[in-house]
Amino acid sequence: MAFADMTDDIAEVLFDEDAIARRVEELAATITADYAGSEVLLLATLKGAVIFLADLMRALQLPVCVDFVGATSYGGSTESSGSVRLDLDSCGDMSGRHVLIVEDIVDTGRTLTKLVDAIQGQAPASVRTCCLLDKPSRRVTDFRPDYVGFEIADRFVVGYGLDFSQRYRNLPYIAVLKPRAYES
Ligand code: 5GP
Repeated sequence: MAFADMTDDIAEVLFDEDAIARRVEELAATITADYAGSEVLLLATLKGAVIFLADLMRALQLPVCVDFVGATSYGGSTESSGSVRLDLDSCGDMSGRHVLIVEDIVDTGRTLTKLVDAIQGQAPASVRTCCLLDKPSRRVTDFRPDYVGFEIADRFVVGYGLDFSQRYRNLPYIAVLKPRAYES
């Protein structure tokens, strides 16, 4: 697939590079103020949150450590399978740490409900969640993120780390695909 084919698949850009950069700076300023005087363990979900993490952590004026957790619920579809797989085995010790989960998008809320529960079991000093995107209309749990970049309607989005079938993660903006992209 050529890069031009990828950009031809875009139906609508929801947030361009400037809008994302401004919002990430605002989130980082709030988080910096909230955690002043503490070290934060940023725990990012793989793979979608990687680009958000890279930008957010460089804007934080705090001592941070970084770890990653594998989280899967979508497979190659635009609908959550309903069952969430977490791979916490490779993560370091979280006891006594201020853990801030960095997530690309909250949809049904199942992934973060399960992840927060798993981390709570490791006796951290605190656990909070920072999500770039939130689709509150899709929620099936009572999960509410502590920090949200943008609320969006019930649309499947790609770019800035988010994929469809592992593609489109390197688009620098957040966008909705044309229906033909799902069909091919
Ligand atoms: P939840 O467990 O909240 O239903 O789903 C969270 C995960 O579903 C996200 O980390 C992401 O991988 C995937 N997801 C949910 N909505 C979207 C979307 O609009 N686009 C993409 N690419 N992934 C999504």
